[in-house]
Amino acid sequence: MKQKLIPETSFCGCCRKELPLEAFYIEKNTQRPDRYCKECRRAASNVRYYHVQAAEHTHRYPVITETADRALRMALIMHAWQVVKESVARKRKRLREEDISSH
Ligand SMILES: [Zn+2]
Repeated sequence: MKQKLIPETSFCGCCRKELPLEAFYIEKNTQRPDRYCKECRRAASNVRYYHVQAAEHTHRYPVITETADRALRMALIMHAWQVVKESVARKRKRLREEDISSH
């Protein structure tokens, strides 16, 4: 009969704290509290979100210094340098034009 008693607290498998059931999500299928408390669930999903973001960032902008292939690394550096040079040139051109039109 003891098993029928609904416990009012549960241990979180992550932070190992004994917490009231309100601190846990209740699984719909089993009607049992989640293994991890809400706080830890939230922290875990934040970590996952961070990792996804980091992975996407790495994918879009390969880290030049970590690129193994030396030729590719040089090409990337040259490309980055070219982009900077072009943007500086564009800025200068615009400033010149603004200068001319204001006189
Ligand atoms: Zn926890």
